[in-house]
Amino acid sequence: IITLAIETSCDETACAVLENGRKILANEVYTQIEIHKTFGGVVPEVASRNHLEKIAESVDRALNQSGKKMSEIDHIAVTYGPGLVGALLVGLSYAKALAYTLEIPIVAVNHIEGHIAANYIAHQTLEPPFLCLIVSGGHTHLVKVNGYTEFEVIGRTRDDAAGEAFDKVSRTLGLGYPGGPIVDKLAKKGNPYAIDFPKAMMGHDTLDFSFSGLKSAVLNYLNKCRMKGDSIVVEDVCASFQHAVVETLKGKVLQAMEQTGCHKIVLAGGVAANSALRHALGSLETIDIYYPPLDLCTDNAAMIGCAGYYKFLKGDISGLDVNAVPNLKIGE
Ligand code: ATP
Ligand code: MG
Ligand code: FE
Repeated sequence: IITLAIETSCDETACAVLENGRKILANEVYTQIEIHKTFGGVVPEVASRNHLEKIAESVDRALNQSGKKMSEIDHIAVTYGPGLVGALLVGLSYAKALAYTLEIPIVAVNHIEGHIAANYIAHQTLEPPFLCLIVSGGHTHLVKVNGYTEFEVIGRTRDDAAGEAFDKVSRTLGLGYPGGPIVDKLAKKGNPYAIDFPKAMMGHDTLDFSFSGLKSAVLNYLNKCRMKGDSIVVEDVCASFQHAVVETLKGKVLQAMEQTGCHKIVLAGGVAANSALRHALGSLETIDIYYPPLDLCTDNAAMIGCAGYYKFLKGDISGLDVNAVPNLKIGE
């Protein structure tokens, strides 16, 4: 089965072609990071406009690279949420037009379920059930993945997402966007125990997360230094902040393992690229850990194609009237 996948939920215009869901034939990602950098974050209007400019070219390039013809595509998979509505609509409209013209089915995919599916491509024999820690730019969830299309959210952030916290701390330090990779790199040269930032564990009765307290603590620390004229060791701030995030995530993963008895842990989303997180969880002997390579952690269309393939197998086809759902929840 040949899947053509389109992803335009945020600031990456992406198109991929897959064979039987787990084999990448082409995976084109055009990132707008350079454009949005100037603004310190993604500007929705600018994102939609750039998707519009790149979408046709992305699809053509992916098809060319895959060596497949339009007529060989069995179905289209496209992200319909969550994300920026204007951005989503560009990919969705393009996918609908293509599906209509080629007379093939369209499968609407949840972007977050796509992030999880990136692991099926990276680990060819990986199968549900497992526990998934989704740590992306806008989401932080602990999910029990009971089947390829069955999800049960058992924990979630009450405020900021992990990636959001990385981006905000980076911006306050004047380091740029996106913050995650920059903080990760600088943290390697810093002392994670230099500053004792709070690790919001929220007690043993919940698997929920909170990162806004940590974010405020970092901002307060920086303001205090600036007011007192103390020097700020950026590497130490990065390392200590990152340490607090990783310890919080690790604590909840361990708690979820205890609660569910499941020791197979899968990481997904942009923050799954974080070296300290991979190391902290990877060095625990009790965990059977999986995570995607860096380019499959952040937004791409291959992961959407994989998630779409399993929905297609289940017969979960969308009509051409499918609409974008900016605040789509996982498992809906
Ligand atoms: P969502 O998937 O929730 O809709 P998104 O698509 O914008 O949001 P992703 O593409 O999954 O998010 O990931 C981007 C996020 O990952 C950004 O917040 C970025 O800072 C973070 N990130 C990327 N690399 C790293 C890293 N090495 N360490 C920490 N964070 C990282
Ligand atoms: Mg992005
Ligand atoms: Fe994403």
